[in-house]
Amino acid sequence: MEVIRAAVLGCCAGVQSALQKAESLLEKGDSSVFSFGPLIHNDNALNDLYSRGLVCVNEADLHQVSQVKNASVIIRAHGISPGQREKLVATGAKIVDCTCPRVLLSQNKAAEFAEKGYTVILAGEKNHGELTGIAGFCRSVILVENSRDAENLPFVPEKAVLISQTTIAREEFRRISETLSGIIPHLEVCNMICPATKERQDALRALSELCDAVIVVGGKNSANTKRLFLSAQKLFRFSVCIENSSEIPREFYGFNTVGIAAGASTPEKIIFEVENNLKKGINV
Ligand code: SF4
Repeated sequence: MEVIRAAVLGCCAGVQSALQKAESLLEKGDSSVFSFGPLIHNDNALNDLYSRGLVCVNEADLHQVSQVKNASVIIRAHGISPGQREKLVATGAKIVDCTCPRVLLSQNKAAEFAEKGYTVILAGEKNHGELTGIAGFCRSVILVENSRDAENLPFVPEKAVLISQTTIAREEFRRISETLSGIIPHLEVCNMICPATKERQDALRALSELCDAVIVVGGKNSANTKRLFLSAQKLFRFSVCIENSSEIPREFYGFNTVGIAAGASTPEKIIFEVENNLKKGINV
């Protein structure tokens, strides 16, 4: 069997950098390492980090951090709000800031417009850490997930800026933007969509010309993995989404050519195991 990897797959730069920071702190082993929220949308990778000592805390658990000597707290790629940062600083822990530079850019834009009296409209998943973090930089903020939300704003601001989540689908953002342009007199639009998602989608499309079937590797709770799998179902006759190599369906060992794609939060280690098991014909 031939196994072909997508030209672009797996962890994006932001998640990769946060993972590497966590790995190096855990390897040093000289302090207690916490992450503020789950470091990555991938249960396999998280369980591995937790088994090596990483502890995930949320805002309500920060007292735990204050009680530990030489604690380090990692801020994940999604970033945090200024209020959350204050609470982290108050614990006395060393802060390891892994906010992705692209998310930092969105935070700065939100803060700039808020300063000028704009209402900030954030488009994306309402409960996603990236958006709740950015919301903390705004005085007046509205969160919208889709064009239906955009049609039913809780109030219509005189001037507003629309800022996209870095991982929102382009088409969804276009619809939201068009809807709001017809409602708000002065609307600025900041498209902050990260190319990471599109790059993985394009690579999947290229793979569909070369393979009989595709395996999409990624966490069940990863939005971009879910979107990648939706595309795979349209592009390939045979496709499956798995979290790790133990989930490779038996029938996938019978194809001549199998492609591997992976979401932006799937670590290389998991992709490598899937690839290796397929090549060796191991059905765990
Ligand atoms: S998807 Fe893009 S913006 Fe989000 S963490 Fe990855 S590199 Fe950063």
